[in-house]
Amino acid sequence: VNGEAAGPVAREADHAGFLAVVSGELPSGVLDLDEAARSAVATDRASRLPQPPPVAVVRPRSASDVSVVLAAANRFGVPVVTRGAGTGLSGGAWALPAGIVLDMSGMDRIVEIDPAGAIAVVQPGVITAALDEAAAAHGLAYAPDPASAAISTIGGNIATNAGGLRFIKYGSTRQAVLGLTVVLPSGEIVTLGGRTRKNVTGLDLCGLMVGSEGTLGVVVEATLALVPRAVDTAMLAVTCRDWSEVQRCVLAVASSGVTPSLFELMDRGALRVRGPAALSTIGAPADPLAVLLVQTDGVAAVAELARLEEALSTTGAWVSPPLAATDAALMVALRRGETLPGYSDPQVGGADEEWWLGEDMAIPATRLSEYFAAADAASRALGVGLSLVAHVGDGNLHPSLTVRRDSLDEGPAQDLLHRAADALIRIAIDLGGTLTGEHGVGVLKRPWLPLVLSPTVLELHRGVKAAFDPNDIMNPGRAY
Ligand SMILES: Cc1cc2nc3c(=O)[nH]c(=O)nc-3n(C[C@H](O)[C@H](O)[C@H](O)COP(=O)(O)OP(=O)(O)OC[C@H]3O[C@@H](n4cnc5c(N)ncnc54)[C@H](O)[C@@H]3O)c2cc1C
Repeated sequence: VNGEAAGPVAREADHAGFLAVVSGELPSGVLDLDEAARSAVATDRASRLPQPPPVAVVRPRSASDVSVVLAAANRFGVPVVTRGAGTGLSGGAWALPAGIVLDMSGMDRIVEIDPAGAIAVVQPGVITAALDEAAAAHGLAYAPDPASAAISTIGGNIATNAGGLRFIKYGSTRQAVLGLTVVLPSGEIVTLGGRTRKNVTGLDLCGLMVGSEGTLGVVVEATLALVPRAVDTAMLAVTCRDWSEVQRCVLAVASSGVTPSLFELMDRGALRVRGPAALSTIGAPADPLAVLLVQTDGVAAVAELARLEEALSTTGAWVSPPLAATDAALMVALRRGETLPGYSDPQVGGADEEWWLGEDMAIPATRLSEYFAAADAASRALGVGLSLVAHVGDGNLHPSLTVRRDSLDEGPAQDLLHRAADALIRIAIDLGGTLTGEHGVGVLKRPWLPLVLSPTVLELHRGVKAAFDPNDIMNPGRAY
């Protein structure tokens, strides 16, 4: 079945054998061979390019459905791509043409919230923001907050170790994961970690699953730490005229004695797409090089913001007074990728006018101005558009590289974007940075792995993979 683009595992795949077993053992409606359904799960947000559909989509309703599927896939050599909401930005959930897609989005039950213990137990298909909302009813919060929180799943967040806007104070998904129930490629169901905040019993295999990009097993349940919900938040905006001013602001915040709960950046290019008029709403000077958003939270939010305001006042940047709650919410929404209501700029290329590539490098936040100068020069030299949003406080950068569709055909445009990405990645690594801060390696970032991971370290990765997945059925050829 559809095995023409098979890789090493898939060449030996016995799809007929697999389908015969799972169609006999799964409840009706779980296995879907419909062409439109298969095509719908072929790609993720990393690419506008169509990907070939998988052989089948499986929508499990229970851990035992997953177990049946993995045991059969292992036996018949069928590759398995696990999928949450498909919001990934590195191709980690792209279907394999000779494989199946295991769509976990239907396992979306919040099993338990224990307010006294500040713990949630959830199925992997729960939407990130929905968990935070459920926790709010108990005065608690789910701290990891990817900009995609309204559309991504907890399972995908765990598999990519998602970071996000609150990382600077609360850490990434890793900090929230206490325990996992995982189906191994053999079909066996195991629990890793548990319900305690501290746990050094054995090797940290639970931690190893976090960020493993669907290559070791399938997360079917997660036990997650919640935090007290902030009673108060306060935010100010800062506008900068050049990158050295941005760097001064980052250093000023870092030495202020206050850890902000959010510290984000949108540059001029990103603002142009999302709605520059937002600046006049908050009384900021027009057309800055970048706007920074700095937020504090908790009982001391207002006092902490005053301290940050004082620290930032020495940088030469324009610093707003504390923003009204509606303005703060608007600025955060723009940072998440929304546009001002009713705004569209005909000068700006949309998805139909531009070829696009987004990156996710992380650098030490003390090297930002060097990075910005070098990245700007490299993109100009190649004739590629560059705009930037960033989790600037922790040095995680999301440059958008663009080429106008009317200037180049797809093939040469993709080559040019790849060369520009290559230049920016090398700049980041030379500054002591890394390839991906939160999106994962997936398919698209694999070419650069040897710049960061030595042959010995890569071999260790393969050894770990073989221990979990000796037949290499779980997302083969992805992540490492
Ligand atoms: C607008 C936008 C903003 C974003 N902002 C951020 C951000 O701020 N921070 C950030 O970190 N990311 C961000 N992302 C990227 C993306 O949302 C995250 O990587 C997210 O964690 C992916 O979740 P998902 O459910 O969509 O997973 P998918 O894209 O479906 O899958 C991602 C990976 O997880 C694996 N996987 C999924 N579910 C499971 C499971 N149950 N068991 C094992 N493996 C599994 C898949 O095989 C794949 O390798 C953004 C994306 C968009 C579109």
